[in-house]
Amino acid sequence: MRITALHPATDHELVLLGEDEAAGYRGIIAIHNTRLGPAVGGTRLWRYGSDDEALADALRLSRGMSYKSAVAGLPMGGGKAVVMADGAGVTRERLFAAHGRFVETLGGRYITAEDVGTSFADMAIVRRETTYVAGLEDPSPITARGVFRALEAAVRHRWGANGLAGRSVALQGCGHVGTELARALCAAGVRLLVCDVDEDRARRCATEVGAEVVAPDRIYDAAVDVFAPCALGGILNATTIPRLRCALVVGAANNQLATAEDADRLARRDILYAPDYVANAGGVIDGARDVCGWSAERARAAVEAIFQTMSDVLARAAAERITPAAAADRLAEARLQ
Ligand code: NAD
Repeated sequence: MRITALHPATDHELVLLGEDEAAGYRGIIAIHNTRLGPAVGGTRLWRYGSDDEALADALRLSRGMSYKSAVAGLPMGGGKAVVMADGAGVTRERLFAAHGRFVETLGGRYITAEDVGTSFADMAIVRRETTYVAGLEDPSPITARGVFRALEAAVRHRWGANGLAGRSVALQGCGHVGTELARALCAAGVRLLVCDVDEDRARRCATEVGAEVVAPDRIYDAAVDVFAPCALGGILNATTIPRLRCALVVGAANNQLATAEDADRLARRDILYAPDYVANAGGVIDGARDVCGWSAERARAAVEAIFQTMSDVLARAAAERITPAAAADRLAEARLQ
């Protein structure tokens, strides 16, 4: 394994490129900040257009992990790994074994997990080479619980009401988190609309919980109290925001805002945006069981506390006349100082 330090002009602590020709492996580990604890963040496998693109993704995602863990009050920092899926004839076995060796060289300063493009099976290969792997269970139910608590906090902030009975929610993406959230919302007395690009998935979810299915491209137009994005990022943008007919946006998807200006665009429409990384921190909080030896009870209590954290972020945004996205960033930056 050849390891080269990269020196991007950012506030990252350490960025390394690892190359193992025999394994057909090329990957980047970006450690953004370890002031609060070891850098924790998943490994993404992706076919990048260039090395610069891979580096930009690693830098952006690792900073995002620092912010998420800091706001959730975890003794963990932020890091991320990207593996470049461009080697022809490479086996996952050799690829992830090489990745495990790379992770191991950092001696625990970076702890990895599953992410987009990687599976629990891949992480089992990584784990043969290093112990610095967290989260070998599906975190989706716990993530969904955190989003539910965030939704309750946003509803209380907006309307001063406790509970969700009688509210309406348009949920985008009936995957792992979305379906679990749909169950909880319906059980709480919410009128639910759901969509998924996979029609069967949407129908199955709707039938199980008693929701209505809408076409994926109509979800933005639904007249509801809450829009809950639980599919992909970048869905709050110059095209979709003018269409929204909701008062709140609270969901699980990462990087919901396409650009930083979209936070202002939502505010101008008087739509309250619950910052994604505050709402969806359940997964990384659950990781504290592996990383910090937390008990299941302690992790569960920290997920319940997303209600208070979201309430604080929204209150701060109102008091300081800034967007909730800016308020969450300020909270994270203060803790990372
Ligand atoms: P998933 O892949 O299980 O589900 C995503 C669903 O969205 C799929 O059913 C897919 O068909 C659907 N989808 C994709 N594009 C769509 C579109 N344009 N319109 C409607 N549906 C669409 O993923 P997941 O684990 O449920 O995660 C959902 C989101 O939450 C992702 O953005 C993920 O990064 C984020 N997240 C997940 C966790 C977790 O614990 N799983 C933690 C934090 C954040």
